[in-house]
Amino acid sequence: MSAQQHDLAERQRRAGVIISQAAKWKVCEVCDAIVPRQKNLCGVCEGYRFDPDPDRVIAAARELGSRAATSVIPSDLT
Ligand SMILES: [Zn+2]
Repeated sequence: MSAQQHDLAERQRRAGVIISQAAKWKVCEVCDAIVPRQKNLCGVCEGYRFDPDPDRVIAAARELGSRAATSVIPSDLT
C-alpha cells in the first residue's frame, strides 16, 4: 500500500469514527476542520468559532473521508 493510499484509508477510518460519534465533535467556522467538542481553539487555524451541529460534523467528516490529502494546512505552505 502506498503512503497516499494509507493516508486515505486512515482518513476514511477517522471519518467513520467521527460520523459514529458526531455529538463529540464540532466544525471550525474558519477552515471547516473537525475539532473535539472540548477544545477551545482549532488546531489548524487557531480559530475559536465552531458549529456544533451534528449534521454539519457528519457532512464535514464525509468530505474528509472522500478525498486525498488536498486540504491546505500550515505545513503545506512552507
Ligand atoms: Zn480552523
